[in-house]
Amino acid sequence: MLQNTSCVHCGQTETTEHILLHCSFARHVWNLIPLASTIDLNDFPSLVSAVGAATSWTCLPPCGITGNIFSWVVWNLWITRNLLLFEARPASAQVTVSKALVRARE
Ligand SMILES: [Zn+2]
Repeated sequence: MLQNTSCVHCGQTETTEHILLHCSFARHVWNLIPLASTIDLNDFPSLVSAVGAATSWTCLPPCGITGNIFSWVVWNLWITRNLLLFEARPASAQVTVSKALVRARE
């Protein structure tokens, strides 16, 4: 178990919602995802509420992703967090987005 529950990106208390939705790093990642409509992450106090809403989030056609992008973004936010925390390997928001988009296309 980890005793330090501070976010590796910003130092705030780490919660699921913080890591995946509300951290400044997560917000930067979400802002870079080419969604067809604008989302306000403040509308989602819990991950469950975001999961429900995300079923209608679609990517702009040029990116070639027709399925739901939500799971790919949160998965890559988690991977980026773990690489930084456990291996001291930082990744930018742009790299995190790129990996999410590539994996979603695959
Ligand atoms: Zn944070």
